[in-house]
Amino acid sequence: MALHMWKSRSIRTHTGILVLMVMTALMIVPGVFGQTVPIPQIRHDLRIALHPESHRLDGRDELIVSTNGSPTLTCFLAGHADLTAVEINASPAEYRFSGGRLQIAIPKALSGARFRLTIGYSAVFNDSVPEMPVNTDNPGYGVTGIISEKGTFLLAGAGWYPQIHSERTAFRIQVDAPKGMVAVTAGRSLGRRTEGDRTVSEWQIEQAAKGPALSAGRYTVTERDLGDLSIATYFFEMTQPLANRYLDAVERYIRMYEELFGPYPFEKFAVVENFFPTGYGFPSYTLMGGRVLRLPFIITTSLGHEIAHCWWGNGVLVDYDRGNWSEGLTSYVSDYLYKEQVSEQNAAEHRRQWLRNYATLVDASNEFPLSAFTSRVDNPSKVIGYDKGAMVFHMIRQTIGEAAFWGALRDLYTEKRFQKASWTDFQLAFERRSSCDGGPCRLDRFFDQWVTQKGSPQPVLQNVQRRKNADGEWRVTGRVLQDSPPFDVRLTLALNSTGGNVFQTISLKNAETRFEMPSPGNPQSLQLDPGADVFRKLFPSEIPESVNSIKGADTVLMVLTGQAGADAKDIAGLLVRSFGLKNAGWISETELSPRVMKAHDLVFIGLPKDRTLVSGIPSPVTVEGLEFTVGNRRYSAPTDTLFAAFPHPASDNRAAALLFSPGGSLDVRTTMKLTHYGRYSYLGFQNGKNVEKGTWPITASPLIFTWQ
Ligand SMILES: [Zn+2]
Repeated sequence: MALHMWKSRSIRTHTGILVLMVMTALMIVPGVFGQTVPIPQIRHDLRIALHPESHRLDGRDELIVSTNGSPTLTCFLAGHADLTAVEINASPAEYRFSGGRLQIAIPKALSGARFRLTIGYSAVFNDSVPEMPVNTDNPGYGVTGIISEKGTFLLAGAGWYPQIHSERTAFRIQVDAPKGMVAVTAGRSLGRRTEGDRTVSEWQIEQAAKGPALSAGRYTVTERDLGDLSIATYFFEMTQPLANRYLDAVERYIRMYEELFGPYPFEKFAVVENFFPTGYGFPSYTLMGGRVLRLPFIITTSLGHEIAHCWWGNGVLVDYDRGNWSEGLTSYVSDYLYKEQVSEQNAAEHRRQWLRNYATLVDASNEFPLSAFTSRVDNPSKVIGYDKGAMVFHMIRQTIGEAAFWGALRDLYTEKRFQKASWTDFQLAFERRSSCDGGPCRLDRFFDQWVTQKGSPQPVLQNVQRRKNADGEWRVTGRVLQDSPPFDVRLTLALNSTGGNVFQTISLKNAETRFEMPSPGNPQSLQLDPGADVFRKLFPSEIPESVNSIKGADTVLMVLTGQAGADAKDIAGLLVRSFGLKNAGWISETELSPRVMKAHDLVFIGLPKDRTLVSGIPSPVTVEGLEFTVGNRRYSAPTDTLFAAFPHPASDNRAAALLFSPGGSLDVRTTMKLTHYGRYSYLGFQNGKNVEKGTWPITASPLIFTWQ
């Protein structure tokens, strides 16, 4: 058979290493606390000795427990741990330990009292870690615990210390490790010292909202005091030269967010390097792989996102049962806000990108309401939780205004710090600050249609007409239509005329809304929602082909050409994995029939002999002979590479793309990078370095009317 399929079980969806997320211990050990009643207060005095050569830790936890009168106390600890002591007030206690559940009998005499519980244990943690994964679905690549010479990484969910469901948990943590190995966790550093061949790091967490994670490595620590707050980097040698640039940026972000939302909620903020690629935002620190930390744009993007999570997600906590609002809000006040600080054009382009992601990566089969979003597991969930979530905050801001929007966020942060908040809490906070007709606005319909319900409107312009009355004044009339059930939205109409531009806001409530607007001159064109201010489903004509068009396609066929040489199939396979393509297949160019072509989205690996297949590549990119040009720059070296997504040669609702190098053979490093440029239509690389990128312009759509 000419058409071959890649096994889909080896292919998972890719979401990009640079989008970081907040994790909670409860998400990693789902439901473990479900059956237990929280006890009022716990203090851990935890001593950990790390033995990297045997991947083992020895732990001893002295807990002061105030119980709630229950006859047993339940702890959670790694199921494979060996218990060396379980004592109550220094006497051996009765217990049962199975499946990670440690149930300790509390003597009757101590019921309801405070007592000292001692748990001694030993456990090996040795998950295998990826060196350079192709796929980055999960910010930790499924790793929950490893103790090694390269470093230590222990998520709360690994059960590295005894966890007890409590309303208030405080820790003192002492980590004893081989000389030079520094440990980091949440809370405040009490310092570190080296005694003989061991280094001891001490930490104190006054109020742990989430189970702490623990990292350790041969770090160089660079610290800076900002009043009561300490900021620090824990970097390995190769990243250390960036320490001060990171600290400058951390300081800038913290000041900016304190101004916007209120005081920073933790004692410190640290940027900690991990020894394998991760992207975690923990309370008071972020843990990123070195390769990521050394990427030039992380300081201006992901770092700020992680710091914003200190207020939203780690400061105000997420009520996961009722939907995770924190990624939408954090994206809005970081990634998006930084664009807005540059220019309104950049901000509008960012919003347009969210809408393109939604149109290309989400459909009826995978859409769900925002209230059902908990965390990013694939492309569609990322688009809903992050992009749609951010757009919802944008629309609230448009609806209630600047002062009410930022004021409500400050209120919520003040009232809900270290407590769970739900979408309803946001609704109430926004309502309280808003004013409509002399009283607070009712936002029930808004939250119902954007948070509780799924879906989106797809408004279109119809019957647009211009008329000049007897006095010589121009007027424009028309209708905006939307499908059922209709959304309640406010849209901007932008009219361009010979006498200048005018804008008018219209409110849509029903399937059809008529409008009429005066024009200062002869009307030239009319556009609906020119700034992409409303979450709506774009029409295909509003979406230029891009890397994402291929990533979101369901039946991609890799067309292997002779020009790409013997490695074409390997390169195609790499692209399939890094794009997270399901149901992808490959075929040789010589076997490509019109019927097969029409039924698939196509990626040409190398230049096809039949050049008409790639003749639809729009300006400013042209392919001639074995060269390509972008604008007036020519690329003909064997180390140059072009990727261009373009209209499919045989189908109106499919996409095509070309990956080619004038030298024939394609480079693995460049191929792996493509997935990170999702929104771009074309990309040019020289020696693996991106030198050209752009998106085809949009000139016609059902939301644009142009008079001839
Ligand atoms: Zn995030």
